[in-house]
Amino acid sequence: MKAEIVAVGTELLLGQIVNTNAQYLAEACAGIGIDVYYQTVVGDNVDRIVSALRIASERADIVICTGGLGPTMDDLTRDALGIHVGAELVMDEDGMRKIEAYFAERGAVMVESNRRQALTLAGADVLPNDTGMAVGTALRRDGKLYVLLPGPPRELKPMFDRYAKPWLRANMNDALPLFSKSLKFAGIGESGLEHALLDLIESQADPTIAPYAKEGEVMIRLTSRASSEAEAFAKMADTEAEIRRRVGDHLYAEEDVSLDAVIVRLLRERGATLAAAESCTGGLFADMTTSHPGSSEAFAGGIVSYSNAAKTALLGVPKALLSGPGAPGALSAETAASMAEGARTRLGTTFAVSFTGVAGPGPSADGKPAGLVYLGVAEEGKATEVRELKLSGSREIVKLRACRAGFYELWK
Ligand code: ATP
Ligand code: MG
Repeated sequence: MKAEIVAVGTELLLGQIVNTNAQYLAEACAGIGIDVYYQTVVGDNVDRIVSALRIASERADIVICTGGLGPTMDDLTRDALGIHVGAELVMDEDGMRKIEAYFAERGAVMVESNRRQALTLAGADVLPNDTGMAVGTALRRDGKLYVLLPGPPRELKPMFDRYAKPWLRANMNDALPLFSKSLKFAGIGESGLEHALLDLIESQADPTIAPYAKEGEVMIRLTSRASSEAEAFAKMADTEAEIRRRVGDHLYAEEDVSLDAVIVRLLRERGATLAAAESCTGGLFADMTTSHPGSSEAFAGGIVSYSNAAKTALLGVPKALLSGPGAPGALSAETAASMAEGARTRLGTTFAVSFTGVAGPGPSADGKPAGLVYLGVAEEGKATEVRELKLSGSREIVKLRACRAGFYELWK
């Protein structure tokens, strides 16, 4: 079923508040198999609200409104729906008693406008408000479903979850809920992934296949409609198997977790330990590693060795590697290897990674391009490996991508 969310409030149009209710409702609708096709924002003006309701009801089966159910003259949503469907405003007795009790308890004077919050429409079902005064309204008219919810999120959310959702479920016929599964990939870019899966993405139906990308991390979300999660996952099985066949080498998780979190978990599971020797990443790798609870079991420490002097003093990188005629220099595979080995032996860990490179934005003093990074991985009992990375992006992005490449090398 198709839905439209209509958020009412001049404050929204003026940019004074953010339309978080639309976001909440959209996500909640997706969860119960309602497809939101449009989201509208309209000010506190009765003619324009009526016109928004008319347009929404022409292109959607379900119209969910938020805002404008309060006591004041600019709260006009229920009046507008009454005009749109031709229904009288009527008082909800329970809602009225609650408002009267509220004022009586506090010894406050109730003015006529307070009664407005107990108004609903003739023929409608009332949605109780457990966290506020204004009652919600749910109305079925000419094959369309209308739901009116209050603006304050602390009233809207419980009212939607407790009362509107079951009402919608009972009043809409067939739609099944959506279930999704996230597959996360590393060491492959969004375009590489899309290229490998292009025919699947283009011919998708059920499940749908949606690629997402964050800096250096890509995700595919498979989504299907079914009566249970198990049934949905069964429908996804063939597509998932085909994705694994093509790009399974890069698949590191079946949930939306970062690769650094997975690395920390794997190290802990295997009783392995990690150290870092960082130059151009300035400690970011250590920061990412230690952002996960329990990382202390796996991460011994990181050394930020920015200058040549620090690389020698803290990691034992030979001076002859760093400077002098014919020396490879700080930005070299040799230095990256020596840094990784220095960190691993000094801290006695299973693994150590190192980063030396040019974060940018401009080239280094000796003319090496921004984004050139040497990534070293030392492992106990194995030859140290170094990868040359040519990364693009701003200084921050180059640092982040270098770190992600470090986690990827550990994961491989
Ligand atoms: P009240 O009884 O408080 O007047 P109401 O149902 O009339 O409630 P509005 O007057 O439209 O709702 O909005 C009241 C408050 O609710 C706003 O000041 C704002 O803080 C919040 N609010 C309204 N609409 C939204 C929205 N779409 N997203 C997030 N918050 C909202
Ligand atoms: Mg109001």
